[in-house]
Order: sequence, then C-alpha cells, then structure tokens
Amino acid sequence: MPDSMVIPINSTYVAMIGTDRKPARCNALMGDIGQGVRCTMYEKRSSSCQEFQASWENGEHNPHCDAARAAHGLPPIDPPIEPSISPDRVA
Ligand code: SF4
Repeated sequence: MPDSMVIPINSTYVAMIGTDRKPARCNALMGDIGQGVRCTMYEKRSSSCQEFQASWENGEHNPHCDAARAAHGLPPIDPPIEPSISPDRVA
C-alpha cells in the first residue's frame, strides 16, 4: 500500500485516506456511490477490506454494511428472496 494512500491511526496501523471522514469515502474508490464504483486497490486491499462482507453476501446480514450505505443515502440491501417451491413441481 503506497504511503500516499494511507494515514496513521496509531503506532502500528494505518487507514486508507478518506475512511477517517464522515461520511467515509476511501480515496481508492473510483466512481459515483449509488451509481457504480470499484476499488482501484482491489488486489492489494487491506485485510479489513477483505474481511468486510456486504449484507447477504454469504447469507448473513451485516449491520455495518447498512450503516455504510445509509451514510451515503442508500437503503440497506434486501435479503435474497428464497425461491418458492410449488407443490405441483415437487417430484
Ligand atoms: S475495498 Fe478498496 S475502496 Fe473499499 S475501503 Fe478498501 S481499499 Fe478502499
């Protein structure tokens, strides 16, 4: 991670510039939030970024995802709709 992309948050850790603001907007994020974005550091992103799961990405709700979206005026991600099984189609 280039030093120009981070700020120190203590003697051990750094954070991406922009994630220290409210609402947070990482300086590695390209695009318009709510329209289309991508991480320009995706292959080199931090472990905290790698561990963050969007709500329902793996079947679990993430309230931190809701909060991050709300900070930018976006609604929470809806849980996936389970396909219904029609009694007519049960083998
Ligand atoms: S995933 Fe990429 S854009 Fe998102 S916070 Fe991490 S470095 Fe920034």
